[in-house]
Amino acid sequence: MSPTRVLVLNSGSSSVKYQLLDMRGGARLAVGLVERIGEEKSRLKHTPADGGSREWSGSIPDHESALKSVAAELAKDGLGLDSEELAAIGHRVVHGGLRFTEPTVIDDAVLAEIERLIPVAPLHNPANLTGIRTAQGLRPDLPQVAVFDTAFHTTMPESAARYAIDVETADAHRIRRYGFHGTSHAYVSREAARLLGRAPEDVNVIVLHLGNGASASAVRGGRCVDTSMGLTPLEGLVMGTRSGDLDPAVIFHLMRVGGMSADEIDTLLNKRSGLIGLCGDNDMREIRRRVDAGDERARLAFDIYIHRLKKYIGAYYAVLGRVDAVVFTAGVGENAAAVREAAVAGLEGLGLAVDGELNAGRGDGARLVSPADARVAVAVVPTDEEMEIATQTYALVKESGNPG
Ligand code: ADP
Repeated sequence: MSPTRVLVLNSGSSSVKYQLLDMRGGARLAVGLVERIGEEKSRLKHTPADGGSREWSGSIPDHESALKSVAAELAKDGLGLDSEELAAIGHRVVHGGLRFTEPTVIDDAVLAEIERLIPVAPLHNPANLTGIRTAQGLRPDLPQVAVFDTAFHTTMPESAARYAIDVETADAHRIRRYGFHGTSHAYVSREAARLLGRAPEDVNVIVLHLGNGASASAVRGGRCVDTSMGLTPLEGLVMGTRSGDLDPAVIFHLMRVGGMSADEIDTLLNKRSGLIGLCGDNDMREIRRRVDAGDERARLAFDIYIHRLKKYIGAYYAVLGRVDAVVFTAGVGENAAAVREAAVAGLEGLGLAVDGELNAGRGDGARLVSPADARVAVAVVPTDEEMEIATQTYALVKESGNPG
């Protein structure tokens, strides 16, 4: 029997998230996270399928040690990396530029291209590369597959992807809108079609991925036609710590009048803006608690967040012309009923509304939260980026005939 397990790795600059999935039935055999790599008190949390989590803390100096620790934890459950059951390792890679429109088996040329894209993804691609090289070192014989966050958005027309700046300058520096969270937008838009009982080719969907990072996308017949993140994941919606859209002249102003450096402004806009910059909290649960307690700053932060969200719903409604569903996903989108309610409030003219009871209710899977007679469905679809990466990875190695 050919191997059916896929290890999914999401390597960040100081963390590695992983999941081991069995593609025969889709069982999650283990889930885990290594945090604070390179610090004195690194932490590993490993949860096997039976749910009995194991935690370990100590020094994990680099990604290689992190992956070795992960392999050791997996081995304790009889799921070691040396297992013949392992078909492939699927890596989340943040930036694939324009070249990678599909999941791709990693070879030297692919590694070189991911490296070439570092200038447009300075925080993410180096960490992703380290994860890939380390995994290759541990299992050189195994297919390693890159699944790109940008791939789903490569179908955007030039009218949506290009910024209105001098074309030669833009092309010289590869400046355009690439979009991110693509694996989630792809999965969620497809699951939304399934929830509506229709083929993805027949439905137009606005996906709102609202996590700590947040992005919206307009998906026509299964293909992305616009998305809110741009050259980097800074553009678009108000996020936990990122500003999203702003007048680019704010940056010159901060340089010339505020005396700030490019790096300082980068940190301001990526780490000290968005909800945390507006009210000191980036967790929507805490913000809602403060709003309910009458806190004015939290109220304003919430209102700014919702105002931006509404503008994107309206914009993508216009881009699509006909919308079948508006779909909420990720930590905030799946859990914060108040955000969903506020985002569509007043949009009855567009056929959008939530049913109070359905919206306030909880549920594990994909579900509708709009009234039964709604013209446009409003839905909650839990995202599952790891499952999507594993599915794409497994399909590719099976197709190319060399699993494991
Ligand atoms: P990311 O993957 O971008 O780190 P997630 O999709 O896990 O983010 O979302 C994390 C965010 O989800 C948290 O910062 C928090 O604001 C929000 N969140 C999680 N649970 C709830 C909840 N029950 N109610 C409101 N917001 C929630």
